[in-house]
Amino acid sequence: MNPIYMDYAATTPTDQRVVEAMMPYFGEIYGNPSSLHGFGQEARAAMEEARAKIAAFLGAKPAEIVFTSGGTESDNFAIKGVAWANRKKGDHVITSAIEHHAVLETCRFLEKEGFRVTYLPVDEDGLVDPADVVKAITDRTILISIMHANNEIGTIQPIAEIGRIAKEKGICFHTDAVQTFGHLPFTVDELNIDLLSASAHKLYGPKGMGLLYIRKGTRITPLVHGGDQESGRRASTQNVPGIVGFGKAVELAAATLQEEVVRLTSLRDRFIQGIFERIDGIRLNGHPARRLPNNINLSVESIEGEGMILSLDMMGIACSTGSACSSSSLEPSHVLLAIGLPHELSHGSLRFSLGMYTKEGDIDAVLEALPQVVGRLRAMSPLYAGKK
Ligand code: PLP
Repeated sequence: MNPIYMDYAATTPTDQRVVEAMMPYFGEIYGNPSSLHGFGQEARAAMEEARAKIAAFLGAKPAEIVFTSGGTESDNFAIKGVAWANRKKGDHVITSAIEHHAVLETCRFLEKEGFRVTYLPVDEDGLVDPADVVKAITDRTILISIMHANNEIGTIQPIAEIGRIAKEKGICFHTDAVQTFGHLPFTVDELNIDLLSASAHKLYGPKGMGLLYIRKGTRITPLVHGGDQESGRRASTQNVPGIVGFGKAVELAAATLQEEVVRLTSLRDRFIQGIFERIDGIRLNGHPARRLPNNINLSVESIEGEGMILSLDMMGIACSTGSACSSSSLEPSHVLLAIGLPHELSHGSLRFSLGMYTKEGDIDAVLEALPQVVGRLRAMSPLYAGKK
């Protein structure tokens, strides 16, 4: 059997057309985009073309796009940058309990600096209630940061509504759109977004390349000081090949976005329906409808996610678990605990994320393999024996 990759939410393969677009900028076109001579200007022109393409895709202006080293840096920049720039105005940040660690750890860092952070709960489907956002706002609130869609369970948040609330109160609104940028159609104006984080390697672009959209007029302190690249908002010579690759990845995503949403949704639903027909004692984590077209997150009773992943890997199927493996202990995912899953079920979770190369035959192969794996592991599980 050909290997089957179903971990596109972790990263995507770089599209060959993206690699080809990047290649000249590793060799022939090597100028520093800040240089005034022709070598530099040629690199700058390519960089600005990519910036304009990406900005248009978001319904933004090119000057509102700052290139970064990835989603993590963009989240750090947005949250620390707005907190530091608005310290005199207030000291309170609102986020959710199910954000990516890039947001949660940044908020914890700010707490150590004396900021106060409200971590909003989510319901059993992983949704933030906009009414909770309203309740959490104080006259000291300077930033609301809620992710567009969750990377583990795929739940899509009511971002437009939360953004509207923030706008009405004059509070800056950031969204981590790492899992939706290039995968769902939206513009920053439709969703009332002031700051948006995205990462190229989630949409068939290069790794180590990201962006922060910053709405004109937003007060933000730079994270990286030095030269005045990116209009003084992020120092360091730009990663020109990475930026060109990011631009190409966005161009390709834009061309197939609508049909990919339909295709992946249908594959996802075939998977979910098929797996419920074949295995008992399972649960779909995340919202049944408001979920990413490519996300399937399951909890399987009486067995551990790691065992299933390793068994599937031996059969050539790559997926991931909701549990993060720390050096000595297996910590259940903070997302699954936040949606109220008991420890046992959060340990038995699996995430399959589909992508550009996923075909119907791959879904069918997993629908055949997973029941075998679950059957084998359950036969050895004292927990399952106790339930029968
Ligand atoms: N935010 C979310 C929701 C993610 O899924 C990820 C990556 O998994 C990140 C942030 C971090 O992005 P990067 O790997 O580009 O630093």
